[in-house]
Amino acid sequence: MLVTGGGRGIGAATAQLFAGEGAKVAVSDLDEGPAQEVAGPIGGLAIACNVSDRGQVESMVARTVKELGRLDVLVTCAGIIRDNLIYKMTDDDWDSVIDTHLKGTFLCAQAAQKHMVENKYGKMVFLSSTSALGNRGQTNYAAAKAGLQGMARTLAIELGPFNINVNTVAPGFVETRMTKATAERMGVDYEAFKLGAASQIPLRRVGQPEDIANVIAFLCSDESGFVSGQNIYIRGGP
Ligand code: NAD
Repeated sequence: MLVTGGGRGIGAATAQLFAGEGAKVAVSDLDEGPAQEVAGPIGGLAIACNVSDRGQVESMVARTVKELGRLDVLVTCAGIIRDNLIYKMTDDDWDSVIDTHLKGTFLCAQAAQKHMVENKYGKMVFLSSTSALGNRGQTNYAAAKAGLQGMARTLAIELGPFNINVNTVAPGFVETRMTKATAERMGVDYEAFKLGAASQIPLRRVGQPEDIANVIAFLCSDESGFVSGQNIYIRGGP
């Protein structure tokens, strides 16, 4: 399996969970350092790759197939936020978020599907977000995360005949560097930020990366073999 953005947060937890269940894992991230930190202890393959660059994505997928033997599972976790209210959002805020999430996932899915179609087997899970439903200050991110759900539904239709399942998961608040960065930008203490978020969540806690990894693993398992083109919100409530 190949996980992008696997050097931290949800991607790292997913790589660790899959490796624990016996999968051969390629951990990819922008820089090799974080990817290696996760891949090393699980005997995985670390690959530096900027997912918004076609050449880098194609060589990442080629290297994964060459070194792991095949590619059955793609999980796209690479992500960034560049929050701003619409009147302050720059072209760069827009382009960098759209390029990372939407173009990045498109490029990874396109490169991966070639191998999956040949093998008549594949599982793809893309990271959407509750922000797909709309979130103040996230015109770019919300559009990207809603777009990923449409992309998954479309790929589920196109690739279903080749026994490839494509789904999205849409987390709410998860304790990772991403939500820490949001607290920092707002000038709020992270512990207070988490408590505030938890008070709004029916299950009265924020999510952990493992909460998301577990659902991703389910969507890549035989038990969910008839589930495709779906999105699962993982937010401690409806
Ligand atoms: P994180 O910041 O801990 O991890 C994201 C990783 O993506 C980082 O290691 C980063 O280096 C990597 N990355 C960024 N740009 C990249 C690029 N161009 N190419 C390759 N790698 C790149 O964040 P996380 O919280 O683990 O987020 C993982 C995914 O889950 C993201 O897509 C994020 O949007 C989504 N998500 C997170 C939350 C949350 O609350 N944390 C909620 C909903 C969705």
